[in-house]
Amino acid sequence: MPMTSVQSGNLTQVADDVHCFTNQIVNLCFVGNVDNWVLVDAGMPRSFNKVMEQVETLYGEGAKPKAIILTHGHFDHVGAAEELVKKWNIPVFAHPLEVPFLTGKESYPFPDPSVEGGMVAKISDLFPEEPINLNGNISLLPNDGTVPGMPGWKWLHTPGHAPGHVSLFRDSDKLLIAGDAFTTVKQDELLKVMMQTVEVNGPPRYFTPDWKASEASVQKLAALHPEKAITGHGRPISGDDLTAGLQKLVGNFKKIAVPDYGKYVKGENKEE
Ligand SMILES: [Zn+2]
Ligand SMILES: [Zn+2]
Repeated sequence: MPMTSVQSGNLTQVADDVHCFTNQIVNLCFVGNVDNWVLVDAGMPRSFNKVMEQVETLYGEGAKPKAIILTHGHFDHVGAAEELVKKWNIPVFAHPLEVPFLTGKESYPFPDPSVEGGMVAKISDLFPEEPINLNGNISLLPNDGTVPGMPGWKWLHTPGHAPGHVSLFRDSDKLLIAGDAFTTVKQDELLKVMMQTVEVNGPPRYFTPDWKASEASVQKLAALHPEKAITGHGRPISGDDLTAGLQKLVGNFKKIAVPDYGKYVKGENKEE
């Protein structure tokens, strides 16, 4: 089916049972039908009310998901998580390597303000003051690759942008939820939510500490031959735009994705 906007420009239907909600600069996904649905990622800080509005639009008043699945724990993907968990009392599933960052035990390396194309100066006023703590509600994604509350989906470990970053894939319609493994927005246009151009690009530069792992993760995702993809930043993408874009990114990863300079860029990463 074609991807259509429903209700508002911020909500895009990507499959019968999958909606992408753009919350400021980041995307969340609603996956499933009224009887069984989950939330993938939890948006920007202070977005609880906005998320609840979308829940009501899609699933009706008082609707509650089976779980929240986190692609990773960066602040722009977990913003409403604590409040949502308090409201719903449901489990939050994440990769084991991401759990220390979700339970207040570890902090991510500070975003690199020196990186080429970095957005830190522009988004730093959005950063939360406190790291998130979901202790007591965090569960580990099952070892067998299944995704709780999302029958037919598998999770894949796609580190690089974050150590426990995961992507979600449904084989039946080749639909990929890529988190920040790659984006569909130019690095210097992350704040332009309404941008017209959609192009496959690397993960957000200011937050990516391991470019080698990130490249391997993009290769892994391209090998799935996804037909549609929802990324953490930028518009959903499908068909030739996605196939050609991923091919281009895989073939020119260092040129397209890896910044020319920045504290997480080592010489080895940028060799031609
Ligand atoms: Zn991220
Ligand atoms: Zn992000």
